[in-house]
Amino acid sequence: MDLLSIDSLSDDQIETILDEGERWFEAARSGSPGDEGLRGKLVFNLFNENSTRTLMSFATAARRLGAGVVTLPVERSSVKKGETLEDTVRTLGAMRPDALVIRHAENGAAHIVAEIVSCPVINAGDGTNEHPTQALLDALTIRSHFGRIEGLTVAICGDIRHSRVAHSNAKLLPRLGATVRLAGPPDLMPEDLPQSSIDEAVEGADVVMMLRVQRERLERELGDAPGEYLQRYGLTAKRLARAASHAMVMHPGPINRGIEIEDAIADDPQRSLIMRQVEYGVAVRMACLDLLISSS
Ligand code: ASP
Repeated sequence: MDLLSIDSLSDDQIETILDEGERWFEAARSGSPGDEGLRGKLVFNLFNENSTRTLMSFATAARRLGAGVVTLPVERSSVKKGETLEDTVRTLGAMRPDALVIRHAENGAAHIVAEIVSCPVINAGDGTNEHPTQALLDALTIRSHFGRIEGLTVAICGDIRHSRVAHSNAKLLPRLGATVRLAGPPDLMPEDLPQSSIDEAVEGADVVMMLRVQRERLERELGDAPGEYLQRYGLTAKRLARAASHAMVMHPGPINRGIEIEDAIADDPQRSLIMRQVEYGVAVRMACLDLLISSS
């Protein structure tokens, strides 16, 4: 079994991952963050794009389950000598890992990898396409805070066009009963989606999830003056006041401070679930690795 997209998971598998993730979260909080369930197993990390949270949390998750982790330092690998993704992955597959976690700038890269190697493959973000484990950890963060997902309204705001996080959440959260509103600057919205203003999206929402502008994927610079993006499209205190009074703020990270979100909101423990998302990231990835490796 591979975890390539939200659609590749059944409802039962989603429930198992969320329940097991919750269990690992509680275990870590009560001082016993893991077990030896994957002892003797080997997880390979192949990250062709930069990462802090996803890379570290997959490595932490694997180790907390007793597995070994090997991370290919892509900058010093034969990728830099021009080796193709296919050849790199064929080579790694011959070393017989028990799971391969891949992040790549190309949409569909994880699917290509899954056709080559026989072990489970986890998509840790492919281009602008999907980032399924981020959506799973987001869903669990929401579920644990509100006690449910069903019936909630989640506004996802910012660079929707380039956000694999938004694309995976737009598939997962409605499956779990939430209403998802997507809004962003006109240049950063997918062409096939209706335009709606950030203010409209945030109005009455239970969760406001802000996204980073993916400047590395822009064909041309936005040309915004300093401070302009925050005022027009970012999460300011004034804009957040439109949301439900109990609304919580999320962000997958990394944050562009002062651009998509005001510092005071990002750092407010009463309003921000951002660090909780990181904590759930490890727990959810433990659940994913366990499910995939144990069932292979
Ligand atoms: N860390 C997330 C991702 O890799 C979000 C971001 O980079 O803005 O997609």
